[in-house]
Amino acid sequence: MIIDYDIVIVGLGPVGGTLANLLGLNGLSVLVLEREASLYNLPRAVHFDDEIMRVFNTIGIANKISKKLIINKGTKFLDEKEKLILDWPRPKKITENGFYPSYRFHQPDLERSLRLKLKKIENIDIKQNSTVERITNKDDFVEVGYLDTNTNKKYITNTKYVVGCDGGRSFVREHINSKMEDLGFRQKWVVIDVILKSNKIHLPDRTIQYCNSDRPATYCRNVGKRRRWEVALKENENYETFFKEENLWNFLNQWVTKDEVDIERKTIYTFQSAIAKKWRHGRIFLAGDAAHLTPPFMGQGMCAGIRDVSNLAWKLALSCKNGHNQKLLDSYQTERSPNVRDYINTTMKMGELLNAIGSTNVSDTTFMQSDGTIKMETIKPALGKGLGFNKDINRGKVFPSVMSKDGDRFDKFFDKETIIIADQNIIETIKDINIPIFSSIDFPELKRILDFFKSKALIIRPDRYILGSLNNFDNKKYIEKVIECL
Ligand SMILES: Cc1cc2nc3c(=O)[nH]c(=O)nc-3n(C[C@H](O)[C@H](O)[C@H](O)COP(=O)(O)OP(=O)(O)OC[C@H]3O[C@@H](n4cnc5c(N)ncnc54)[C@H](O)[C@@H]3O)c2cc1C
Repeated sequence: MIIDYDIVIVGLGPVGGTLANLLGLNGLSVLVLEREASLYNLPRAVHFDDEIMRVFNTIGIANKISKKLIINKGTKFLDEKEKLILDWPRPKKITENGFYPSYRFHQPDLERSLRLKLKKIENIDIKQNSTVERITNKDDFVEVGYLDTNTNKKYITNTKYVVGCDGGRSFVREHINSKMEDLGFRQKWVVIDVILKSNKIHLPDRTIQYCNSDRPATYCRNVGKRRRWEVALKENENYETFFKEENLWNFLNQWVTKDEVDIERKTIYTFQSAIAKKWRHGRIFLAGDAAHLTPPFMGQGMCAGIRDVSNLAWKLALSCKNGHNQKLLDSYQTERSPNVRDYINTTMKMGELLNAIGSTNVSDTTFMQSDGTIKMETIKPALGKGLGFNKDINRGKVFPSVMSKDGDRFDKFFDKETIIIADQNIIETIKDINIPIFSSIDFPELKRILDFFKSKALIIRPDRYILGSLNNFDNKKYIEKVIECL
């Protein structure tokens, strides 16, 4: 059987585009099949965080997209009388991931950068106007059937693995018969994107959450002259009624007049929370919106998808190069699913808060403290169970970004492979282990990290998570056991 590609990716949204870049970096041959003729030119996601910027840095687009980003200053929560009930600033301070905590961006800019980068990678083929219609899991490969909608011709290609990055209505998810677990949030929200005609309009520089049981809404300070309002649709409203000229401007006139903005688009989304029960069937995987749906209140839906593919890419690369590795591939869902669930749960609590202020059950919202104040914290859930040993307290934590002595990020040494960083005192005992070892003699800046994790050595995965840590001198065997899964 001739295998045409290592990986076929279904869907070239931000998640498929990031995955293709990560796989290209690993030297794999990849076919990306995308149904549409060109990228979706209207914004959906407008926010991502430091962890995602670190992934973008790994694939080499961070510098380029930085020019079109703004650093997010944070969010204010106002009650129904527009009184400040919570200020959640995002300090302009570099985080453990080596970037600012939170950014605002324009999704089409990001998708364009991802595609431009892909065009420069030799083993990546992108076929647009190509709708995947059939996927067959064979014993040691997958057959993918797709329709070229330009010519109406059907094609078949064989690949080692398929990843469905084909969005919320995923064909791949349906095909592997993976049902969605409904996590309980489902509301229709209006989204209005505008472009300011001038810079002079006085609008907030932060995101504002209008917590109001009658009319919860969000204002987003997006990049350049772009601004967005999201507002919950009432039961008795629909597209025609809300967007009736006079109703729309009644709403927007609280902030801007018709002369001050152009409306870029207006639409209605159903915001919902759900996770696919099964993220993998044999050699077929789901990632991004195909695997989970998150309401946008924390700006984490796309971020979760990018964490998925950062977790999956290196595991697929190892399985392509060294042979199918069941244990490694099984760990994808067990590590990622609890992590995304934590983000979705926190997002839903934020949705509750937006919906509850002004109503009688306000004290039920999880962010409400007993003294009536509201507390909001950035969450960074650890990975779920998977590779490594759970009794190891450092396993599954993020490995901090470190600058190497030549002024570069240390991350560049382990884009594709698992490494060990070790205290100079134990190098002799572990030197014949078969993965690259970086010593604190050559990289003195690593000593601080080892001390922070109270470890003599750390085993670090290419997705920047800690696989294991060594606290004693004499357990080379422990390291060997931890890396057995690779
Ligand atoms: C109003 C709104 C605001 C949001 N804000 C944020 C935010 O601030 N931050 C954040 O992180 N997330 C946010 N999100 C969520 C974010 O937009 C999504 O999570 C993200 O776009 C999902 O990316 P994806 O690549 O998984 O799927 P998609 O972007 O949906 O891409 C899927 C691709 O697959 C293609 N496709 C589908 N079926 C097939 C097929 N059979 N064959 C070939 N191709 C196929 C589609 O054409 C599409 O290009 C927001 C969402 C909304 C609606």
